[in-house]
Amino acid sequence: PLVLGIETSCDETGIGIVRGRTLLSNTIASSMDEHARFGGVVPEVAARAHLEAMQPAIEQAVAEAGIRLADVDAVAVTSGPGLAGALMVGVGAAKALAVSLEKPLYAVNHLVGHIAADLLADDSEPLEYPTVALLVSGGHTSLLLVRDLTSDVELLGETVDDAAGEAFDKVARILGLPYPGGPEIDRAAVGGDPDAIRFPRGLSRASDREKHRWDFSFSGLKTAVARWTEQREAEGEAIPMADVAASFREAVVDVLVTKALDACAEHGVPRLLLGGGVIANRRLREVALARAEAAGVTVRIPPLRLCTDNGAMIAALASELIQSGRRPSTLAFGADSTLPVTEIQVAPVP
Ligand code: ATP
Ligand code: MG
Ligand code: FE
Repeated sequence: PLVLGIETSCDETGIGIVRGRTLLSNTIASSMDEHARFGGVVPEVAARAHLEAMQPAIEQAVAEAGIRLADVDAVAVTSGPGLAGALMVGVGAAKALAVSLEKPLYAVNHLVGHIAADLLADDSEPLEYPTVALLVSGGHTSLLLVRDLTSDVELLGETVDDAAGEAFDKVARILGLPYPGGPEIDRAAVGGDPDAIRFPRGLSRASDREKHRWDFSFSGLKTAVARWTEQREAEGEAIPMADVAASFREAVVDVLVTKALDACAEHGVPRLLLGGGVIANRRLREVALARAEAAGVTVRIPPLRLCTDNGAMIAALASELIQSGRRPSTLAFGADSTLPVTEIQVAPVP
């Protein structure tokens, strides 16, 4: 099926068009620059930016795909999780589009969309089940067990406080680096010693095993970096930026990769799928690939443009739902900022 997907859960207005598992276009308009001076995404600013970007983004995606809007078989949209106001703009636009084109509408889960992004990566073998998936971005840090993309996604664990990308953004701020912090810290870490400072690995103690085996926590790490630098400054010493950045990054990467591979081992799943904007981190990919190889786990990393928020992954998920015979959604759904990952499709026709 020819599907147009709309994604507005955070700061990217993403419009993607797919035919089955073939990517035809993937237009992304980000309001990231508008949030820079606030050091993080401002919900109201993001919602307004989506409203302005929506129509031109749809037109561009349609033009690049070389189709006519009337040709689409279905419209897909992110219902949640994400920023309520931002989601509402996408949901409203998708409903309007579906009704005016008289086409079915599929309201889907953003997190599962991140997994569906893998289907659009060309040159690769099809995704095999079950697979463990680690999704890391500015808004989420989730460890999932995927038995079937369209019907069975289990949440193993998630962050109990900051998301991994958020930790990069906040620590960058502490170090006086601009937003977004991920790429800045990557740059600052060049030549640094990742073992220079032993920053804490959140929820990794033996006592955490019972309740938070697969969960993450990054706020303690952020505080540790702040304390460490404050203390150095109080002593009148210079901050060894490269070492701090490399050591912080190592703490994040270590805990992410350790828990993901432990989950693979515990569930007997030799496959790990990575997604989300933090996958842009070179050290994360490097450590994940090296340790996975040693553990006999195959790692899949979609191209970065499909890892960050985009509409094509939303269209791809709907395309899979259609191919597995799923009915469309009724129009009786809204934005759901806390939509659980187990709810892959929202408001399906009974
Ligand atoms: P969502 O959480 O809904 O997926 P988002 O906009 O917060 O949306 P993305 O756009 O996928 O997330 O990713 C942005 C985040 O990724 C930011 O927090 C940014 O700092 C982080 N990031 C980007 N590049 C890197 C990098 N090289 N290393 C670490 N983090 C990075
Ligand atoms: Mg973003
Ligand atoms: Fe996302």
